[in-house]
Amino acid sequence: MIIKMSSAASDAEIAHVVERVKECGCQPNISRGVEYIIIGAVGSPDMRIQLEALRAAPGVEDVIPITHPFKLVSRQYKQGRSVVRVGPVSIGDGEVVVIAGPCSVESRAQLLLTAHAVRDAGANMLRGGAYKPRTSPYDFQGLGVEGLQFLKMAREETGLPVVTEVLSTEDVEIVAEYADMLQVGARNMQNFSLLRCLAKLQRPILLKRGPSATIKEWLLAAEYLLAGGNSDVVLCERGIKTFETETRNTLDLSAVALAKELSHLPVIVDPSHATGRRSLVPSLSKAAIAVGADGLIIEVHPEPERALSDGPQSLDLEGFATLMRHLEEPAAKLARTDAVAA
Ligand code: PEP
Ligand code: MN
Repeated sequence: MIIKMSSAASDAEIAHVVERVKECGCQPNISRGVEYIIIGAVGSPDMRIQLEALRAAPGVEDVIPITHPFKLVSRQYKQGRSVVRVGPVSIGDGEVVVIAGPCSVESRAQLLLTAHAVRDAGANMLRGGAYKPRTSPYDFQGLGVEGLQFLKMAREETGLPVVTEVLSTEDVEIVAEYADMLQVGARNMQNFSLLRCLAKLQRPILLKRGPSATIKEWLLAAEYLLAGGNSDVVLCERGIKTFETETRNTLDLSAVALAKELSHLPVIVDPSHATGRRSLVPSLSKAAIAVGADGLIIEVHPEPERALSDGPQSLDLEGFATLMRHLEEPAAKLARTDAVAA
């Protein structure tokens, strides 16, 4: 429920409503606008009648049900946009954040070389998988804890905050020890025990959209994190399965625009997994920015032809530096300004 109060409501009137919301077993979330104060209350549907009775409370103008199945992530619940902080980096504050690095952490040398190069080219954060979700059990599965240690070294050397995937609940503690942000991969988007476990963590989460998940399912997966207590969530569109086989997946740009319309959470785009083709990464990066994405996550490898995973979609160091220069061009920036203003 959304409890709409006049901005002229007194502190005592607001406190009374907050108290009643808590008595109904709901968690109040207050956001103050110029005209109204909005108090969001999400809890058991049984409490609906009691919350609706708050219409009679002093200072309350209306009590409106949240119509979406996802509540805490919806823009009905929270006015304005959420900004997620990962160390010194802010995602969702209007600047496009670029996260770059290899698909897999393969060695200390490979990671450090990539980390320095992407930092020098202007990346804001480093990515790299230590635990890899591979389609085949015979493929490289990641370096595990050793990979996490290399990520930590790279952060210490470059100052770039690190995001890395966590595959299972058993690994949450160790991954959280090393990473600044934890990634829930596309295949795990609806791993509800993992989501519940990450909800209890005081660490930002990058939640990728499942390859066959609807936008509603994706936002409901995010709802698990917020409902469990973690509101530092960034959504990531990484392409969905369609009939098309020329690209690895199909980048759903309308999902980016719609997720931003429906939710206050930041949304970023992964053009690497979306296309599976290095040549398409620059144009889809620009398209993502034009449509209003808050950032990009891009795979970069010093020698893509030797990569242990996702070489064909990885940019080399020079390709990444060139892309970063292009993203600075006025056309890309103009597109961004339009998207923000709309
Ligand atoms: C990755 O980021 O390396 C990855 C495996 O991504 P996704 O979960 O989107 O396939
Ligand atoms: Mn990959």
